[in-house]
Amino acid sequence: MCVLGGVWVKVFGTHKGIGMTVENYEVEALGQTMGACECCGAARRAIWGVVHLAGAETVASYFVTWVPGKALAEHAAHMDLIVGAWGEGTGAAERVAVSLVYSEEAGARRVQVTDAANRKIAKNPLVGVALGPDDVMGSPVAKTAFGIFDAVVSQDARFEG
Ligand SMILES: [Zn+2]
Repeated sequence: MCVLGGVWVKVFGTHKGIGMTVENYEVEALGQTMGACECCGAARRAIWGVVHLAGAETVASYFVTWVPGKALAEHAAHMDLIVGAWGEGTGAAERVAVSLVYSEEAGARRVQVTDAANRKIAKNPLVGVALGPDDVMGSPVAKTAFGIFDAVVSQDARFEG
């Protein structure tokens, strides 16, 4: 399990029922690369792209990393999001980083919020503030982040998780 110094708090439970807003999002796949996992050095794949509201503005950038050939129960996948306002006239101050861990335990898949401050995404110049679990859970950004998560997992066919 790849925890990366993040805090495993506020288990989101099984992944069921989060996807209420998935149809509102359009996922646009962009680049991909291979590299070494930040926690264990395993060969991990990274993909990224952007998410739009259907037919409208961009709402997030996403970066997903996982270890091909390892089930989620063996090695969690990570999804780092930059959520907020994009496009002309917007700046990093209008965007936040949210980091999700996608894992499987006892046959149940789950999505948890980990501390984005401990992820590389925190240093991305496009990010204003990197949020931790306590900032995310119970705030509107949680619903957005989980909706985007669902959209990416269901629409980006490159992800094998
Ligand atoms: Zn690892």
